[in-house]
Amino acid sequence: MSDIFDAIIIGGGIMGCSTALELARRGLKVAILEKNSIGAGPTGKSSAIIRQHYSNELTASMALYSLRVFQEFHERFGGECGFTQTGFLALVRAADQAGLEANIALQQQVGIQTSLVGPETLRELVPGLVTTDLVAAAYEPESGYADPYLTVTSYAQAARQAGVTILQHTAVTGIQYAGSRVTGVSTANERYQAPIVINAAGAWGAQVGQMGGVTLPINPCRVQVAFFRRPVGREATHPVVADFINATYFRSETGQLTLVGLIDHAEAKAIVDPDHYKESVDDAFILEAGERLIARYPAMEQSQSTGGYASLYAITPDWHPIMDELPAGSGFFVCSGFSGHGFKLGPAVGLMMADLVTQASNPQFDASFFRASRYAENAPVRGQYEYSIVG
Ligand SMILES: Cc1cc2nc3c(=O)[nH]c(=O)nc-3n(C[C@H](O)[C@H](O)[C@H](O)COP(=O)(O)OP(=O)(O)OC[C@H]3O[C@@H](n4cnc5c(N)ncnc54)[C@H](O)[C@@H]3O)c2cc1C
Repeated sequence: MSDIFDAIIIGGGIMGCSTALELARRGLKVAILEKNSIGAGPTGKSSAIIRQHYSNELTASMALYSLRVFQEFHERFGGECGFTQTGFLALVRAADQAGLEANIALQQQVGIQTSLVGPETLRELVPGLVTTDLVAAAYEPESGYADPYLTVTSYAQAARQAGVTILQHTAVTGIQYAGSRVTGVSTANERYQAPIVINAAGAWGAQVGQMGGVTLPINPCRVQVAFFRRPVGREATHPVVADFINATYFRSETGQLTLVGLIDHAEAKAIVDPDHYKESVDDAFILEAGERLIARYPAMEQSQSTGGYASLYAITPDWHPIMDELPAGSGFFVCSGFSGHGFKLGPAVGLMMADLVTQASNPQFDASFFRASRYAENAPVRGQYEYSIVG
């Protein structure tokens, strides 16, 4: 095997694998170096909700593009992603109704199937759902969730078939330069050469940035999810619900389970060492998640807790990723900081990174929206309404 590549990608999560596949399909000789195994990081533990409820045209368009890929995953890549269409509901309080309606209008403009629904429709979609405290909800019938580990390993398999070399249990420990140009990476025992190096290290993004002399505002933050077995009479799958009033999201999981997570800005404060943190769930979290779930869906009072786990978000100051070449002309690219909502965007991100790296003349999406300098320019990505910038 030759150790000289056109591009080296650090990190075998969904971003690294989708980017590798897109680059290989353009004829580049690509390697992914993953310090653990493919999908063993946060991608494999993602709740993998696939919805399009975003409040920027670009992110909404990326989500729609990616939904189509998840829907046609087998035809496009030959593997499976486990996409399950359940529909998606976003529930907001009165103060956010105008924002919700504006977001729905924007999403409809980019072609997303979404509409405003009232309490009666909500109760039809999820019998027993509490609707007394809310006035407005958005409903996306096409959305749902995927199997994150299956998705990322299928991406990796498609990448391999397209010629990508995947080196697992291979931690990058250094990044080499000749003058201002990147020339490759080193591991404990080897050196690998490439004029392009892509930091797709997720929650380790700042750590890998540092190896290349680049400071990135990406914090690894511990987040948790809990599972509850749905009680007798409620076994059927239900739509994904993003409950912005109780700051909770929940979705069906196989085995008649319901997965619950929080939509909480405080998660950005739980900064941990990404290599040493508690990966099991806290008892207090299970209680809290269960109480919030029952507040919205009282039938779950009879459910049984089946545990949970903790993983990592890679959080940036505006909860949006950094996709950029740093510095310009160096060949060192960053594609990290997806702040807890990147899985559903993975297919679009691969395309965007391939366009960025190959300097495509007519890119489908404008990656400059996610340039690193936006923080120094005081131009962070913002949703128009507070509820919409989370998750
Ligand atoms: C609990 C949870 C729930 C989520 N729910 C959703 C959701 O419902 N919908 C959604 O869209 N998104 C969700 N997300 C977010 C989404 O999963 C992430 O944004 C996405 O998976 C990030 O992918 P990535 O490829 O950037 O990073 P990662 O999956 O973190 O991959 C980075 C990889 O880099 C490797 N690495 C790090 N350092 C090195 C090194 N020095 N050398 C070699 N390899 C290295 C790591 O081992 C890791 O495998 C969730 C995340 C979590 C944790």
